Amino acid sequence: MHETSIALSILAAVEEVFNETPGAKRVSKIKLRIGMLSLIDVEALSFALKVASRGTPAENAEIEYTIDPPVFRCNRCGHTWSISEEELQRLVEKYGLQSAMHLHPDIITRFFKCPRCGSTDIEIEKGRGVIIESVEIETENE
Ligand SMILES: [Zn+2]
Repeated sequence: MHETSIALSILAAVEEVFNETPGAKRVSKIKLRIGMLSLIDVEALSFALKVASRGTPAENAEIEYTIDPPVFRCNRCGHTWSISEEELQRLVEKYGLQSAMHLHPDIITRFFKCPRCGSTDIEIEKGRGVIIESVEIETENE
């Protein structure tokens, strides 16, 4: 389950912030942005974070998730664009997948053309990974 290793790297980064904060007591909130094409199951990640944070400063931290829509870039003309959730949903249904989380990034680029120049040489610029947007730390002075 790759959510566990993702959870561990998130917690390692959060702990680094914690260790650099003077008077840090506990992590109160973690804001995450999950790319729609990251192949991450948010429920599984949430569970993995809960288990992996036990006994760490991030135990019981509130975790907020934002799902980021994908952004594509054309390698020929440099145009960047995003697709709507509806378009993504249509693909999901067309290929009989459970959700957009199961659309493999390497496959999805085959289904799109650059809307400006028509090139099929496109790549995913955003929407594949997990970004830690912010970490809130409770300190002794609060
Ligand atoms: Zn183009």
